[in-house]
Amino acid sequence: MKRAVYPGSFDPVTKGHLDIIERAAALVDELIVGVLNNNKKTPLFSVEERVKMLEDVTGHIPNVRIEAFSGLSVEFVRQCGAQFIVRGLRAVTDFEYELQMAQTNRSIDRGVDTLFFTTELNYAYISSTIVKEVAFYGGDISGFVPPQVVDCVYNRIQAKKRENN
Ligand code: ADP
Repeated sequence: MKRAVYPGSFDPVTKGHLDIIERAAALVDELIVGVLNNNKKTPLFSVEERVKMLEDVTGHIPNVRIEAFSGLSVEFVRQCGAQFIVRGLRAVTDFEYELQMAQTNRSIDRGVDTLFFTTELNYAYISSTIVKEVAFYGGDISGFVPPQVVDCVYNRIQAKKRENN
């Protein structure tokens, strides 16, 4: 059984992430999207909310499963019984960090290889951070995130703004 884990923050999931999920799922028997519960970052959405959004937008792909995890990605990959880590490369700026992570993970577990997907050009500039920034200033994010996610982002940002006032 070929199994891969696509780890990330997905705060929130973007069309770029979804494109990688669809392409990676077509290559393996099972793709597990690992949603990182990172105490060091303050996410816009809780890990449960991020899992739910990913479930909503991947419902059409039968061999995709969404799971929350914390700690080292490579440990989670091992727990899942997976052989591959999936990551996306948007631009050269991603490359150095991703190469370092892939080499580190391989030195921790030689049974795990990282598969890199180059992003679809029309999604290459999209990041979760940019989505939040555009939404904060009231811009249109419908081109950046799946339709199910658009209102979740606007509503949460409005709520945060009210909290801070
Ligand atoms: P992390 O905090 O681990 O970087 P992200 O959710 O930002 O988590 O990204 C997870 C993975 O998805 C990374 O490999 C990243 O390069 C990739 N990714 C992010 N945005 C895009 C995009 N627009 N197109 C393709 N891949 C992307």
